[in-house]
Amino acid sequence: MKIPTLLTFVILLITAFGIQVVAQDRVEEWHGKTVMVFTPHPDDDLFGCGGTLARMARNGNKIIIVIYTNDNKGSFDQGKTSERLARIRKAEEEAAMATLGIPRENITWLGYDDGELEYAPQKQLCGQATKLIRQYRPDVVFSIDPGDLYERWHKTDHRMAAFMTLDAIRAAEFHLYYPEHLLTDGLQPHKVPLLMFYYAATEANYWVDITDEIERKIEAVTKHVSQFEPSINKYRPDWDPNDKASLKEYMKGRATKKDGRFVEAFRRATGFNQQ
Ligand SMILES: [Zn+2]
Repeated sequence: MKIPTLLTFVILLITAFGIQVVAQDRVEEWHGKTVMVFTPHPDDDLFGCGGTLARMARNGNKIIIVIYTNDNKGSFDQGKTSERLARIRKAEEEAAMATLGIPRENITWLGYDDGELEYAPQKQLCGQATKLIRQYRPDVVFSIDPGDLYERWHKTDHRMAAFMTLDAIRAAEFHLYYPEHLLTDGLQPHKVPLLMFYYAATEANYWVDITDEIERKIEAVTKHVSQFEPSINKYRPDWDPNDKASLKEYMKGRATKKDGRFVEAFRRATGFNQQ
């Protein structure tokens, strides 16, 4: 075999093998992985990747949820204080995650004020996220896509959470960022090998089949009672059965489908440049 031919053969083999590896790396089949999910609010994790989380939980993966804000502003009910709203939102998130199979002790609340994450001290915020990554040492991180529409949205917490998480992922692998984590807490640097960006509207390149989980995801959505009418206008902790049924129907009707299956879309990325 001539050298150029041999080279071509080797390249073809590597390419084919590489494609096979990617093709086999199906989230639906993951077992025993440590998964971290960063979310600005206690519901974006569910809306963005709740079906995927349910599937991963069912398959015995360890899922850690990190929530940047306490969601203490988003209500039109003038009888409600921020403190009370934060307590309600926490309980609702815990109930929603329990529905997906994720226990409340796996949820970390950073507790920043809703809508004001961009006013938080950035170095402190990035350090908190970095430390959690070094503690849990995830095989994969799920986070809002920092390259999508959120800058244009002016949805500040989403923007900030997306960029902060990525900054923390980068910092976590170098010991000279936040060196006190190693020197004081004994936490080794950690390189996150895989990123799954949710809310990836324009650059999605990976779809997880959640058909078997769609009912559970929608049931989890209904745990966020205070996010929907009528409770968002005048709080009530429970559902009128008709309101609940129409919400479920609405959610199912607008759920993303691909080739006749319910899916969640992601931008899957590896490496330093998130490609
Ligand atoms: Zn949000």
